[in-house]
Amino acid sequence: MEVIRGIRQMQEKALTVRAAGRSIALVPTMGFLHEGHLELMRVGRRLCDVLVISIFVNPTQFGPSEDFDQYPRDEEGDLQKARDVGVDLVFIPTAREMYPEGFQSVVHVERVTQGLCGTSRPGHFDGVTTVVAKLFNIVGPDVAVFGQKDYQQLTAISRMVTDLNMPVKIVGVPTVREPDGLAMSSRNKYLDQEERASALSLKKSLDLAERMLAEGETDAGVVRQAVESLILEHPHTRIDYVTLCDPVSLEEVTRLGEETLLALAVHVGRTRLIDNRVIRKGTPGPPEDEGAS
Ligand code: AMP
Repeated sequence: MEVIRGIRQMQEKALTVRAAGRSIALVPTMGFLHEGHLELMRVGRRLCDVLVISIFVNPTQFGPSEDFDQYPRDEEGDLQKARDVGVDLVFIPTAREMYPEGFQSVVHVERVTQGLCGTSRPGHFDGVTTVVAKLFNIVGPDVAVFGQKDYQQLTAISRMVTDLNMPVKIVGVPTVREPDGLAMSSRNKYLDQEERASALSLKKSLDLAERMLAEGETDAGVVRQAVESLILEHPHTRIDYVTLCDPVSLEEVTRLGEETLLALAVHVGRTRLIDNRVIRKGTPGPPEDEGAS
């Protein structure tokens, strides 16, 4: 496995790979890799000849009062995990080279970045789409793999690629969870024991909404209120948003249709967690005790 830190070196390497007729899969990450990231890599590994991952804690997608400085980092551990999963090349650029003095360009996706996380994290998605566009230009992947855990991010990136005719196929991978259902996240490391228990309220509330829909409830306001109550029953929780929206446009709905995205952001202690699920009419909801497993 090769580690490349320079942008020019990465571009040259990618050119050589493509000149040899080999396809490239890219998995962009911010490091502190967990099983969710590794699943994305396994998917990329299957789809292309050469698997590239990037590790870059991108400063421009963090707000001024967010956790950029505290964001967990473990390059050595990450490299070991990447090696074990069959990564060919790890690209680890520096912020100085990614954003040199004079940098002033932004890729901005309009409507799908407005609600949900876009409301509470202004500028976040500009940071995401801009860095992903840069990574695409540097690595030139045939396929790029992203997690559905960051549903709005995946939507914004897909929109950008379509709108700007970027020659890359975007693949979304279902959320990987801990055995009890908590969505894996590098930020779970911040949770103490009590908060870890309360963090399960996100997954439980997705189950609850799915059950309510299965039992015939289609009023988004009623479902949202039940979800909010369930979350707030758990100590240390503060709701950022609970939104029921169209899974494509991400526009809020008042009635649950054939497919509805339930997206959540909840502060548990000092940690902000997100989760989501597309809930569908006509599918049986999960059993009530599932959350306890
Ligand atoms: P991050 O390092 O948090 O920027 O995440 C890098 C990529 O991993 C993104 O495409 C995320 O959506 C994806 N990802 C993060 N957590 C999970 C998870 N639990 N399951 C699947 N994909 C994930």
